[in-house]
Amino acid sequence: MSATIISGKELASEKRKQMKEETEKLKEQGITPGLAVILVGEDPASRSYVKAKQKACSETGIHSELEELPDTVTEEELLEKIDQLNKADHIHGILVQLPLPGHISEEAVIEAISPEKDVDGFHPVNIGRMMTGQDTFLPCTPFGIIEMIKSKGIEIKGKHAVVVGRSNIVGKPVGQLLLKEDATVTYCHSRTENMKDYTKSADILVVAVGKAFFLSKDYIKEGAVVIDVGVNRNDDGKLVGDVDYEGAKEIASYITPVPGGVGPMTITMLLHNTIVSAQKYSA
Ligand code: NAP
Repeated sequence: MSATIISGKELASEKRKQMKEETEKLKEQGITPGLAVILVGEDPASRSYVKAKQKACSETGIHSELEELPDTVTEEELLEKIDQLNKADHIHGILVQLPLPGHISEEAVIEAISPEKDVDGFHPVNIGRMMTGQDTFLPCTPFGIIEMIKSKGIEIKGKHAVVVGRSNIVGKPVGQLLLKEDATVTYCHSRTENMKDYTKSADILVVAVGKAFFLSKDYIKEGAVVIDVGVNRNDDGKLVGDVDYEGAKEIASYITPVPGGVGPMTITMLLHNTIVSAQKYSA
């Protein structure tokens, strides 16, 4: 078997075309969706993620503004900046690029963002709403993953979904969203014993660990749907996922590539959340 590739790049491109039309409609009503991105410090990876988000905004007709702060900024100054953006009518989404320097509490910063502008879906209020099945901003990477699975008409209901990784931004929420879609969900993490016993029985396998070639095809059930969230550099400096893609492709029914898989969908769902925020909360 050779797996069908679920291209996040193609799906993202389709969705962004629709989003552009939605922003044009909003503009006709005098509303331009606005996203503020706060970047603290000079981390090159963070800077390139922010650049990609801004480019995607401009292609979709979303106004974006970048607030660059030095890594010497105090937590108080950063919270003050967030407060100003919470009050700014032209801003519908606020995103603080993580990670932050060690002297700033990420929890305090996330909680300072108004839940109505938390387009990353990280605020505890929005996480609570997601857990209880209420309408809210869903965290972008997990949201994008569900969209990718659905885009191929893959049945989630009743399936065994195994999520490897339990971070607050990917593993935990993607498991919750799969549960909401009526999957039976198992989480694996660094303390899981005999992980293969679980992954080998997964109909849908989501891998979010952050280690190149972490998961070989021996861990995958024939015909499984494999979603590779990992973004790693191999020894040659090339971007690779957490899954041995070439091996896994032979036995999976569907697989996401890296690059061009989950990454473009993450940014796309950020744009979606920003547009929804403008539709819902414009004064
Ligand atoms: P993270 O916070 O470092 O979490 C990694 C998870 O992997 C943890 O839950 C950890 O378990 C688990 N883990 C580590 N070693 C393991 C092992 N040997 N066996 C089983 N589980 C193990 O990472 P993250 O933020 O979730 O990101 C994961 C990957 O996805 C990274 O490569 C990141 O760059 C990528 N990512 C991609 C996107 C995208 O848009 N494409 C978005 C976000 C993240 P413990 O909890 O027990 O430590």
